[in-house]
Amino acid sequence: MGMIGTVNAAARKFLSQPHQLLIDGQWVASVGGQNFSVENPANGDTISQVAKGEAPDVDLAVRAARAAFEGPWSKISASDRGRLLWKIADLIEQNADELAQLESLDNGKPMTVARAADVPLAADIFRYMAGWTTKIAGKTFPLSVPYTPGAEYFAYTSKEPVGVVGQIIPWNFPLLMASWKLAPALAAGCTVILKPAEQTPLTALRLAQLITEAGLPKGVVNVVTGFGDAGAHLAQHPLVDKVAFTGSTEVGRLIVAAAAGNLKKVTLELGGKSPNIIFDDADLDLAIPGAANAIFFNHGQCCCAGSRLFIHDKVYDKVLDGIAKIAGSIQLGEGLDPATQMGPLVSREQLDRVCSYVKSGVDAGARVVAGGQSLGRSGYFMQPTILADTRSDMKVVREEIFGPVVVALRFHDDEDLLRQANDSEYGLAAGIWTRDVKKAHQVSARLRAGTTWINCYNIFDAALPFGGYKQSGWGREMGEEALNLYLETKSVCLLK
Ligand code: NAP
Ligand code: MG
Repeated sequence: MGMIGTVNAAARKFLSQPHQLLIDGQWVASVGGQNFSVENPANGDTISQVAKGEAPDVDLAVRAARAAFEGPWSKISASDRGRLLWKIADLIEQNADELAQLESLDNGKPMTVARAADVPLAADIFRYMAGWTTKIAGKTFPLSVPYTPGAEYFAYTSKEPVGVVGQIIPWNFPLLMASWKLAPALAAGCTVILKPAEQTPLTALRLAQLITEAGLPKGVVNVVTGFGDAGAHLAQHPLVDKVAFTGSTEVGRLIVAAAAGNLKKVTLELGGKSPNIIFDDADLDLAIPGAANAIFFNHGQCCCAGSRLFIHDKVYDKVLDGIAKIAGSIQLGEGLDPATQMGPLVSREQLDRVCSYVKSGVDAGARVVAGGQSLGRSGYFMQPTILADTRSDMKVVREEIFGPVVVALRFHDDEDLLRQANDSEYGLAAGIWTRDVKKAHQVSARLRAGTTWINCYNIFDAALPFGGYKQSGWGREMGEEALNLYLETKSVCLLK
């Protein structure tokens, strides 16, 4: 498949550069001197070369981050820290087209989507967190201390940065995940070693250039591109105070184990198998396209994808019909083509994984209502797929597929629905479609999920916390909650 869209001059220039590691403010080759190739999933072409960071590179980056944390970064005023974060947001916006193109070439997602969603959301989190830097404050407390009668104390808390943070991110929203991680850490005053996913390192590297351009002191943000071994070394590193991870639940468990050595703080943003519930009184003109978007946005490669679709008996056929029509009409193609609505999956591995899930569903008796096939051509394209008449014991209903595949389940009784919807090891998000406001709130309250969307789906905002119950994770991204996860509380008590 030839390239339909054109790569703009800025993106072309970036792709043609050698990509090294950012350590202590310098772009450097890896200690081992090796590189790895970055692939365009729309055609399998190599589009760039990136340094392969390993344990010794992580060690250097941790040392740089430690020095920056104890040195220059701790001396910058809260207001100036905010100003620097705001500048990063401005630079993201000024380079939005280039970032969207790089994201599309690296990940496969449509450039139009990256330009409309990923890039502005990335800028937004830096701007939101820029506002927080000057509002990080403790409290004072009236003490009584019963065993020191007569003594008076002045007591207060202060908020201090956790320290050196390792951040490990996945390939589904490379720029946005980097930004959701970096912005709160920097606002809190932490320094960072960022390990992007091996499949999609490019926009994190471009962001690191912009961060350098914004004027952050050297060593505050270090980027080590590489594979899982680099992430594992970072997660176990004794000089790292916290690790923040987004990715699979399986690797999340490894992160927890690795962090145990020095009991570093851990936050995790993991998988999901989110229920999306359409009641019989829903506005179907809203719910049908909404349910399609819930699963097909970003090719289903979303941790919060509405991947278990519960449809009330009375509207089951009509809803399935409507979503199947949408699935069949989605324009698959290369991400740079402005007409493309869905690009390729991120990698051959991911396509094979998704196809094997579809096969397992069909073998277990699910009915294919739409799609079901990969496109037999270059690139990792998968048809938007609907599996109907699934049962809760099927693998496709229990496990995260992380592709454009929704499983449909029928319900008629609300109690039974709630039991099934909560019958998952995950608890990231849920969707509720109904005209009955009271019911919407009641159902929301009973769903074990970190986010519930009512008559909408995939709505994100820098102010609104996002994260999981159960095995979907620990902690939250975005909002004040994310900031707090990069802060320690110090209690200070003074005898007056
Ligand atoms: P993953 O293995 O969890 O990768 C996420 C990040 O962790 C990557 O940067 C990865 O590096 C790194 N990593 C891998 N092994 C590590 C280790 N032992 N210690 C520390 N870091 C490590 O996810 P994946 O393999 O890309 O995708 C597999 C499945 O995970 C997907 O099919 C999907 O179900 C799920 N997933 C979920 C999310 C989410 O947002 N919740 C995102 C992506 C994937 P490498 O890139 O070098 O492996
Ligand atoms: Mg992996």
